[in-house]
Amino acid sequence: MTTRKLKAATQLVHGGTARSAYGETSEALYLTQGFVYDSAEAAEARFKGEEPGFIYSRYANPTTEMFEKRMCLLEGAEDARATASGMAAVSAALMCQLQAGDHVVSARALFGSCRWVVEQLMPRYGIEVTFVDGRDLSAWEQAIRPNTRVLFLESPTNPTLEVVDIAAVAALSRQAGATLVVDNVFATPLWQRPLELGADVVAYSATKHIDGQGRCLGGIILSSKDWIDEHLHDYFRHTGPSMSPFNAWTLLKGLETLPLRVAQQTTSAGRIADILADEAKIARVIYPGRNDHPQAAICARQMQAGSTMVAFELKGGKAAAYALQNALEIIRISNNLGDAKSLITHPATTTHKNLSEDIRTELGIGPGLLRLSVGLEDVDDLIEDLSVALSKV
Ligand SMILES: *Cc1c(COP(=O)(O)O)cnc(C)c1O
Repeated sequence: MTTRKLKAATQLVHGGTARSAYGETSEALYLTQGFVYDSAEAAEARFKGEEPGFIYSRYANPTTEMFEKRMCLLEGAEDARATASGMAAVSAALMCQLQAGDHVVSARALFGSCRWVVEQLMPRYGIEVTFVDGRDLSAWEQAIRPNTRVLFLESPTNPTLEVVDIAAVAALSRQAGATLVVDNVFATPLWQRPLELGADVVAYSATKHIDGQGRCLGGIILSSKDWIDEHLHDYFRHTGPSMSPFNAWTLLKGLETLPLRVAQQTTSAGRIADILADEAKIARVIYPGRNDHPQAAICARQMQAGSTMVAFELKGGKAAAYALQNALEIIRISNNLGDAKSLITHPATTTHKNLSEDIRTELGIGPGLLRLSVGLEDVDDLIEDLSVALSKV
C-alpha cells in the first residue's frame, strides 16, 4: 500500500485492508470464533503478547480489525474497538472508566437508551450524575466537581438537533482532568471530527449511516492508544460487547459508499428543510445547515455540513403529526435513521415515550414534533410525498 496521505473517500475503499494469500479483491470474511497455534510454545507466546496474532474473536478478529482500522483512518484516531451495537459502544465507553464515587456530567438531551445508561444504570453502581443543558457552557462549568471523571454529550442531539459547542466543553473537560466522550452519530464522521475539536473518546452506532442500508447493528469506540490500553482493553475483552465478523464485513462494505450516501442525503435534507420552512402548517424547522438554526454559528464552526436529519414541528400537534405520517407513501414510519430509505418518527410517542412529560417539554419534544431521516430516494419524490401528505393534514 502507498505511503501517500490519502483522502477520506480513498481510505474508505482501501484503508485497513488485510489481504490474505489468495489476493481477494473484496475484504475477506473470517467467520471464526477462534484460532489455532502451530505449537504449544506458539500458544504461550501469543498469550504473553510476545508474538502477534489473534487468540479469540471476542478479543479481536481479522475482519473486525479491518473495520476498526478503516474507522481509525477516517476519524484520525489511534485505536478503536468495534462493538455489537451503538449502545454497546456508548455503555462500554462510559462504564469502562468509571467506578463508585465518580461523578459524571452529561448533556440532558440524549438518545433514549444513552439517557437510560446515564440516569438509571450509573447510579446503581454508585456513580453520581449531573444533567445539564448542553448548550449552556456555564452549566457545564458549574456542574464540574473535584470527582468529575467523565463529560458526555451528543451533538446534534436526538431528536431536536440541538448543537453543543464541543471545543468549549472539551476545554472545560481538560481543565478538570476529565474525559470527554462524544456520541457522533447524527453528524457522521464525515461532517464532524470530535477528536480534532478536543474530545477524548468518540462513539458511534454503526447501525446508522455506516451501514446505511438497514442490515446490521454495530458500534465503535475510537480514542488514543493510551486511553484504550488503560481503560477499554481489559473491560472489552472480559465483558464481551464484541462485533460479529459478519457484521464487520457488512459495515466495511458500507464504509466504501459512506461519503457518496451521506453527501447525497445531506443535499436532499437541506432542500427538504428549506421547503418545509415555507409551509404554513409547520411551526418550525430545525436543521443544522440552515441560518435560522438556534446555534448556527457553532454549526458553521464545528460541522462541515448540516447532515441527514431534519426535525420539524406541526402547528396542529399530535393529530397533525399522525395525519402527516399516515399520509406518506414513500417515507416510511420507523425509528431508525441514516438509512437509504427515508424514515420518519414521532419522538414523543416512540423513542422518547419513556421520559416524563416535563422532561420532554424541557427538551423541546412537543406533540407536533417529527424527526425525518432523509434517504437516497430522488429528492423530488420525497418533496412531493411530504407536500401531498401535508395537504391532507
Ligand atoms: C442509534 C443510536 C444509538 C444506539 O445505537 P444502536 O446501534 O441502536 O445500539 C446511540 N446514540 C445515538 C445518537 C443513536 O442514534
